[in-house]
Amino acid sequence: MKVGVILAAAGSSRRMGGGKNKVLRMLEGRPILAHSLTTFATLDFVKEIVVVTRLEDRQDVERIASQYGVSVKVVLGGRERQESVYLGLQALSPDVSWVMIHDAARPYVTREIIERAWQACQERKAVGVGVPVTDTIKVVEKGVVQQTLRRDTLWAVQTPQVFARDLITTAHERAMAEGFTATDDCALVEWCGHPVVMVEGDYRNIKITTEADLEEEYASMFPLIGHGYDVHRLVSGRRLILAGVHIPYELGLLGHSDADVAAHAVSDAVLGAAGLGDIGDHFPDTDPRYEGADSMKLLQQVVELAAEHGLQIGNLDLTIMAQRPKLASYKEKMRANLAASLRIPAERVGIKFTTSEGLGFIGRSEGIAAHAVVLLIRV
Ligand code: MG
Repeated sequence: MKVGVILAAAGSSRRMGGGKNKVLRMLEGRPILAHSLTTFATLDFVKEIVVVTRLEDRQDVERIASQYGVSVKVVLGGRERQESVYLGLQALSPDVSWVMIHDAARPYVTREIIERAWQACQERKAVGVGVPVTDTIKVVEKGVVQQTLRRDTLWAVQTPQVFARDLITTAHERAMAEGFTATDDCALVEWCGHPVVMVEGDYRNIKITTEADLEEEYASMFPLIGHGYDVHRLVSGRRLILAGVHIPYELGLLGHSDADVAAHAVSDAVLGAAGLGDIGDHFPDTDPRYEGADSMKLLQQVVELAAEHGLQIGNLDLTIMAQRPKLASYKEKMRANLAASLRIPAERVGIKFTTSEGLGFIGRSEGIAAHAVVLLIRV
C-alpha cells in the first residue's frame, strides 16, 4: 500500500496582502512549507510527496523540496485550490493507492494526527481531521442572524484529509464535470454520497492565514530577555540588605529605599524584558512613599505588573559584585526570597557572587553592584 501526500501550496496569500507566498515565510527559522514537509517525509509509510505551487514560487519550493530523502515532486497548481489538488493527484505515481491532502499553511500538523487519520482511513476510505468548535456559530445574512447552529454537532475542519486514491480522484472528476466546488476535499467525497469519517485533529494545527497569525506565532515562540544593572554606595549607619536578606556588616547600602541593589537589578531586568521602563519610572526616589521601602515588595509589584501584561518569569541569573563581606552563606536564603517574589521554583534562580579582585570601587569596598538577566514567557 503506497501512500502519497499532496501539499497544497499554491495559495495566493490574498489575506496576507499578496506578495510572497505565505508558505515561504519563515517560522521558527524555517519556511512554513518545510514544517509539514518534514513531518510527512519522516513517516515511514509515506512514499511520495507532491507539492503543488505557483509558477513564481516554483524555484524556492524546489530548493526546499530538494532537501528531503523521500521522493518530492513539485508541480504547478491551478487557479483555485480544488484545481490545484486535482493537478497534484494527477502527478502521483501510478502505484500510489492512498492520498493524504494537506494545506502547506498548516505547519503544526503532528505525526499523531497523521497516524490517526491514516489508521481510520484504511477502513473507511475517506477521513477528515478536525476539532469540535468552541465558539457558537451563527448564520448571518446582511448583518442579521438567520440561524444559530447547534454547537455540539459542529466541527472545524483541518487537514490532512486522507482518501483511497480512486475515491478522491473520481470525486474530483465528477465535481469538475458538474461544476461543483468546495473549500475542502472531504466535501467533494460527501457530495458524491460516500461517508466521510472525522477524527480528532488538534487545536494547535492552525492554518496560517493572516499576518496577525504569523506575528502571534512569532510572539509566542520567543521568550523576552531582560537585563538589569544597579550600584549602591556602601556607607556606615545603614543596614546591608541583599535580595531581602539582612547581612550583618559594619557598612550598609545608601539609597532612598532599603537600597537592596540585587532586588533593584532584578526589577529592572523584568521591566526591561516587558518593555515597561525601569524602576525609577515606577518607584521614583523623590516619592516619600518609597523612603525606606522594602525593595523585595517593589519587585513583587513589578512581577505583578508583568503578569498583568501576560508575562511570567522563566528564570533569573543574578551576579552580585562585592569585595566584602563574604556572602556565600546567605545564598540559599536569597535564592528562596527571589524565587518567592518571582513566583518560580528556586532551581530557576541562579545567584553568583564575585569580588572585583580589589579593583575599582567594588574592590575598594565603596559600593556593591548587581547584574541580573531574566527571561519572560508569554502565558
Ligand atoms: Mg537602585
